[in-house]
This record gives sequence, structure tokens and C-alpha cells, in this order.
Amino acid sequence: MNFETQAIRTQNDNSLYREHSTPIYMTSSFVFENAEEARALFADEIEGNIYTRYSNPTNNEFVEKLCLMEGTEDGIATASGMAAMFSSIAALVESGDHILACRSVFGSTHQILTKILPKWGISHTYADINKPEEWENLIQKNTKMIFVETPSNPGLDLLDLEWLGKLANKHNLILNVDNCFATPYLQQPAKFGAHIVTHSATKFIDGQGRTIGGAILGSKELIQEIRFFARHSGPALSPFNGWLLSKSLETLAVRMEKHCENALKIAEYLDNHQELELVKYPFLKSHPKYELAKKQMKHGGGLLTFVVKGGLERGRNFLDNLKLLSLTPNLGDTRTTVTHPASTTHSKLTDEERLEVGIVPGLVRISVGLENVNDILEDIENALRASKIKEAELI
Ligand SMILES: *Cc1c(COP(=O)(O)O)cnc(C)c1O
Repeated sequence: MNFETQAIRTQNDNSLYREHSTPIYMTSSFVFENAEEARALFADEIEGNIYTRYSNPTNNEFVEKLCLMEGTEDGIATASGMAAMFSSIAALVESGDHILACRSVFGSTHQILTKILPKWGISHTYADINKPEEWENLIQKNTKMIFVETPSNPGLDLLDLEWLGKLANKHNLILNVDNCFATPYLQQPAKFGAHIVTHSATKFIDGQGRTIGGAILGSKELIQEIRFFARHSGPALSPFNGWLLSKSLETLAVRMEKHCENALKIAEYLDNHQELELVKYPFLKSHPKYELAKKQMKHGGGLLTFVVKGGLERGRNFLDNLKLLSLTPNLGDTRTTVTHPASTTHSKLTDEERLEVGIVPGLVRISVGLENVNDILEDIENALRASKIKEAELI
């Protein structure tokens, strides 16, 4: 079956009510036939649901679809993207181990690597996304895992997944790829050698800004280790959210097609705009990794960035003059959302640290939604014009 069909037709078996759309199994525990079945379930001799912190049919359906999409054997649903990142790392590394990570990782992943894992003697080194030639030399004797995101946030730089997969295998390392920005519709890291694929389902997978959720996908063997960790430390997803997310996967393909179509149109319109210094989108020919993007992604994704002429103040003025687009840090929503990283999400970093992850003062990140593209463009164009007038008044 093809991607869309699998997303729609992979469903839990009917209950005795013969429903067409699968129900939510909103229950904390499950009943045993008899004492012997209870014993066998707890002894892992047979498979079945015991308790929702361990597994739940609604969450299992969500995970089964994701496994088919990503091409992985097994997976776990988690209550948030960060629960997926943390569990997938913490379950597989131990005291004394080292992680090689790409410097441009999500903010909370950065906090886990720099503030939380060191408490248990787990160290890391950051590598530059645009200097892959340096990565191999950064691998240490005690390196256990490589952790990356591609495309990166908010720089939208890319890493070559095939090269990374080979590098990880050569050094016997676990390659963990946070595939949140691309979604399995655009990119399947496991096909290029990733051993673990992690997701914040909060973004494009939900796609409607309604819930937090996450997932960890990979080989049976690695997921078994993570499952032990997760069952007992408890990052379980609520079945209600699992149901929302499983339903969302049914429309992932059509939504991503439209997100990407709108984003490409906007990127092409803004490219060479006189009020902008730079427009970055993986499927724009001017992107430094355009060829790589074409090789490992189906489309360019729902995010694009640009740099407004006039730096920080102009960037802020631009945001203040938007009427339709939402100023919110979330992304992957039906509604187009806009952020100005230098004054918000990355304001605590020094100028130098910001530049290391590609954030210049005028950088604006847009997560392109599903509105009519002409309305999105009109709002951007009006705000660019109004912010310019305001700037002129200041002088
Ligand atoms: C949002 C996000 C996360 C964290 O996910 P939550 O669901 O907010 O916990 C991790 N990685 C990336 C790339 C994200 O965008």
C-alpha cells in the first residue's frame, strides 16, 4: 500500500460495536482472562495490554502508522517531543558516555545535553552543521550516540543523512535523528541509516496546534531498551492525545503537500525582494544544500526564513505590522506562524552563539500554514512596507 493509504487504512480491529472510525481506549488498565494470563503478560511471555503507562491500543495504532511511514520495526508514543528526545537518549547512554550532537538542536534538547545529562556524567561535543569534514575527528573513544536535526531550526541548514549513517556505522554509534521538521512524509532517516528516529508530534504531525505529543521509532532491539526505560519512568502519552495524533496522520500527506506548495511559492516570491537580504528554503536553488535537499527530501518543508534589511528593530517592526499571521513560537500549524529568534527564542544567547547557529538580528522564521497563499503573501508584503515607513519616521 502507498503512504496515504497506509495512513488512512491502518486501524485497530473493530470492537463489538463495529465502528468505522476507531474509538479512544481511554482506560488506565486492562482486564486479564485469568491468573495464568496475568502471569504470562507480566513475564513478557505473551503480548498484550496491561496498563496504559506500558501500552494502550489507541497509542499503539498511532505508533504502528508511524512505523510504516518511517520504515522502522518498532516504536513508542510519548507525552511530548521532549519526552521522546530525553527517553531515547537516557535509555541508551550511561555514565561516562559521550554524545556527538549538532550545535543547532532544539532549545530544550540543548538544555538536556548541557545541563541535565552532565549530572549523570554524560558529556557531549557540538559539531557545526556546515562543517561535516570536522565531525569524524570529534568522535571520542566513549562516544555512544550522534544526535542531529535536519533541516535545522531556525537556520534551515541540512545534514547529509546517508553520510551520517555511514559515519555512525563505521564507528559503531547510534544515530538518533529528530525528524520533526521534515515529518516522515518528506524524509525517512531510517532509510539512510538512522537507528533511532524521534519526533515532536506537536508540530506537523498534529498539524493543528491542539496537542503535545511525541514518538520514538527504531529497530526492535533498541526500542526494547527504550521501552523498559519508558515503562518505568513514565513518559506515556494520553490515549486521548494518541487518538488525535493517529487521526492527524490520516491527513499528513495532503497537509504536507499544501504546506510545502505554499512555502515554495512564498520563498520564490520573496527571493530577491528589495527589502530582504536573504531568503532560505531547502528547495530554493539558492540554498547551499539544494542538491542534497532534493536527494533526501520529497519537498522543501513548511518552514522558511528570511533576513529583513535593517536588523533587529526592523525585524521587530515587521512582526508588529503583521495583521493575519500569528506571533507564536509554535510551528507546523494550519495557521501561518512567525517568530523573530534574536529577540525571543534565542535572546539569551550571545551574539556569537546566535551566529554559530545562523541567527542574524533581522532573521525571521515563518512556518507556512494552509491559508490561501495570496493572503499570507499580502500580509507579509504589507508588513514589510509598513515596517519600512516606521523605520523612515525614526530617522
Ligand atoms: C518542538 C520541538 C521539539 C520538542 O517537542 P515538544 O512536543 O514541544 O516537547 C523537539 N525538536 C524539535 C525540532 C521541535 O521543533
